Amino acid sequence: MIYFDKVCKIYSNSVALEDVTFTVLPGEFISIVGHSGAGKTTLLKMILAEDCPTSGNVYFDSVDIHKVSKGKLPLLRRRIGSVFQDFRLLPNKTAYENIAFTMEASGRPDDEIKSDIPHVLELVGLGGKLANFPHELSGGERQRLAIARAIINQPDLLIADEPTGNLDPINTAEIIEIFKKINQIGTTVILTTHNKKVIDSLGRRVITLDQGRVVRDDKEGKYAL
Ligand code: ADP
Repeated sequence: MIYFDKVCKIYSNSVALEDVTFTVLPGEFISIVGHSGAGKTTLLKMILAEDCPTSGNVYFDSVDIHKVSKGKLPLLRRRIGSVFQDFRLLPNKTAYENIAFTMEASGRPDDEIKSDIPHVLELVGLGGKLANFPHELSGGERQRLAIARAIINQPDLLIADEPTGNLDPINTAEIIEIFKKINQIGTTVILTTHNKKVIDSLGRRVITLDQGRVVRDDKEGKYAL
């Protein structure tokens, strides 16, 4: 599904990624770990085509992401849902409206918007919070809402950049359970984290970055930093 082929990314004078090569298969749940500055966010940015590699290629289902025309990029991005540490919700919109906004932007019809949003909020455990604004939700609930928004268009791939970085251990465990559930229903998940407990509880594949290089690629959850 995702193939990094000898990807390097150099910012002015720092090397963010160096000769990064790996493949993610459909349905996998992989974690990317590494110290701050190791290149985790840069790697995710390459997948989202928010930034271009200095050299090397990134493929999504054999399409070179960075050779896709500007006009076709939104279609590709629609196949990827993303979640961030800081939630990135629209503060003046309710939970329902935050999700509706994304659906409208992808041209989904009104009847689907009305019927799908209650379901997705139920899936993430926010069934009763349709009309709440982000400031009326706890941190864990805000992240659930961000996840609901990320999966509403049924993406093939879900990317999560430090999604539990702002959460306490209980909320962290609950958010990870939601990611597992999403993965079980067929979505590929790529997650970056600093959290050893998260890695241990997942027991899935872990790629370790150090100074922009892949230094480990373990099949079953090893947090070796
Ligand atoms: P991580 O997510 O693992 O903390 P990043 O991918 O954010 O690491 O950063 C990797 C390296 O690239 C760091 O040395 C960082 O300073 C540098 N870097 C990241 N983004 C930029 C940028 N936009 N401009 C210059 N340097 C950057």
